[in-house]
Amino acid sequence: MSRRRQIYEGKAKILYEGPEPGTIIQYFKDDATAFNAQKKGTISGKGVLNNRISEHLFTLLGTIGVPTHFIRRLNMREQLVRQVEIVPVEVVVRNVVAGSLAKRLGMEEGTPLPRTIIEYYYKDDALGDPMVTEEHISAFGWATQEEMHDIADLAIRINDFMAGLFAGVGVRLVDFKLEFGRLFEGDYSRIILADEISPDGCRLWDMKTSEKMDKDRFRLDLGGEVEAYQEIARRLGLLPEGVVGAVLDLDEHRKSRGK
Ligand code: C5P
Repeated sequence: MSRRRQIYEGKAKILYEGPEPGTIIQYFKDDATAFNAQKKGTISGKGVLNNRISEHLFTLLGTIGVPTHFIRRLNMREQLVRQVEIVPVEVVVRNVVAGSLAKRLGMEEGTPLPRTIIEYYYKDDALGDPMVTEEHISAFGWATQEEMHDIADLAIRINDFMAGLFAGVGVRLVDFKLEFGRLFEGDYSRIILADEISPDGCRLWDMKTSEKMDKDRFRLDLGGEVEAYQEIARRLGLLPEGVVGAVLDLDEHRKSRGK
């Protein structure tokens, strides 16, 4: 096999040059980081699950008219995507108080928000991804006001769709992070959804038990990360129903850890 040129290595993914100009291969690693990479670990099998879950969500979003970078999944750990210029802003959508919002404003985790809140964070590891407003984003030229309008509009559509999809399988979509990119077509560019959507960047709580089924299991040392990701994949219909042994039983997991 010819050696592929690596373009970038991030915390959870590696990007390689794709087979045709304007394409990229996204490789999903098992590496996990939290708290701006102060906590590091490996969740064995996570990359395979995130590749599959993200493929599923991006494909469904495409069918409702959300433009995305996704082209097709290549194998267990890789997908072919369109090359974009990433907007250096992380877009967080929140439906329920959790995580940094709970901490920053001293609010109780689990409180439903009266309306969906969108927050923006400037993508800069050295600065710890500080929260910014649309004023900063346009003043410093990270995105135009028109692009931010498209981003906010897409974020709300994505949230509406995903909240319904997850509710249908007994999962509460608490919050999640999105990244967008510019797709160039001649002199013109448009905003499309990029990166991934997986339990790494979402808070997903079981509706009945409020059990966390996302990366908070790793962040908070709860254990059972891969089982939780598998259960999300299973509920989305991405794992064969028969594979019970491979599927999460968080109660069993707790018992086995003596809790
Ligand atoms: O930590 P915080 O509460 O701000 O995170 C909000 C949501 O964004 C969570 O679902 C978290 O997984 C996601 N997030 C992320 N990458 C970051 C920061 C947050 O995926 N760098």
